[in-house]
Amino acid sequence: MRSTPVPFTARPIRPGQIRRLDGVVAARKYDEPNLHRVVRLHGSCDLRLETRPSRNPGEHEVILAVGAVGVCGSDLHLYNEGRIGTTTLAGPFVPGPEFMGTVLAAGHACRDACGQSLRPGQRVAVEPHISCGNCTWCKRGQPNLCPHHTFIGLPGCDGALAEQVVVPGRQCYPLPDSISDNAGALLEALGVAMHAASLSRIRPQEAVMVAGLGPIGLMIVRLAALIGAAPLIAVDPLPWRAKFARCWGATHAHAGTLTSMPERMRRAAGQHGSPTVFETAWAGTAITDCVHAAAPGARVVLVGIPPDDSFSLPHSVARRKGLTLLFSRRMGAEMPLAIRLASSDHEGVNLDELVTHKWRLDQTARAFSQNARYADGVLKSVIHPQR
Ligand SMILES: [Zn+2]
Repeated sequence: MRSTPVPFTARPIRPGQIRRLDGVVAARKYDEPNLHRVVRLHGSCDLRLETRPSRNPGEHEVILAVGAVGVCGSDLHLYNEGRIGTTTLAGPFVPGPEFMGTVLAAGHACRDACGQSLRPGQRVAVEPHISCGNCTWCKRGQPNLCPHHTFIGLPGCDGALAEQVVVPGRQCYPLPDSISDNAGALLEALGVAMHAASLSRIRPQEAVMVAGLGPIGLMIVRLAALIGAAPLIAVDPLPWRAKFARCWGATHAHAGTLTSMPERMRRAAGQHGSPTVFETAWAGTAITDCVHAAAPGARVVLVGIPPDDSFSLPHSVARRKGLTLLFSRRMGAEMPLAIRLASSDHEGVNLDELVTHKWRLDQTARAFSQNARYADGVLKSVIHPQR
């Protein structure tokens, strides 16, 4: 492994090469010594462009030419703080859990998430949460709670900020032509938003508040709008995010916090608060604000991850209201429905609209820095390793 500023010598795979590959050619090509570019995080705010050898996929694996990688909240926690929750950065690793790619070659026994074989040239989205498939939680349809899981793009399992990545075939979902590469990279985030929305049991014509309008918060706004939530109140300190929430169906949007929200907006949710509240900021005081904004008997869904792995709330307020706190973790089996929702942009979720910034792989450090500073009106950054 070499780090910059050593001159980069590996030859990136070009889209034309990918299209020419068939199964035999692909297998031969990747038997040859080959290098590809990769970005590794060495410590807080320390991303380096490096090269490393390619490897052949195992019998149940597939090697992908990574087409698009979304810069996500987990990436930014690791970039800013060197940790996320109790998971810490123990050594250099490749971030990037949100991605799609094009199949270069697959192992002879490789099957996708639908049990179908994968062929070179096929575009796929990848579910980064690898569950065991055998435990109590996996068997009862809660793979997101599997205690034996690994996660592509968190320390311990390299992610997709690379020209190539090898993943288990069963993590791959074929993408229809109607979903762009950028949107394909955001399907995991959409699945996370759908999982949080399903926990909340949003009902038509019932108020919903969303505090924190990063991509996941905005996706929850869109899903709540599709279900028919009203009023749908969206709050974020960054004005361009609040403005975008209106485009995706918020009936009220406030550039600030729940506590600074105008009284008329607070009253719109109901005299005693909102029956459903999502905390999609990075926790901290936002949870206290959510508890105050919630109506008696409300469901408060916690989606954000606090930087210091702890939070506090006003206990007497939460207890007197009899609130239900729900911790949302990743996604369950939402990916197929996420693909359907993203395929019909007018009636579903047009993920392309979220993508405000596009970068090459060698611009990853700039992309992360911009996201960490919330600069230039960023909503979602996507990195294209093949460009
Ligand atoms: Zn399991």
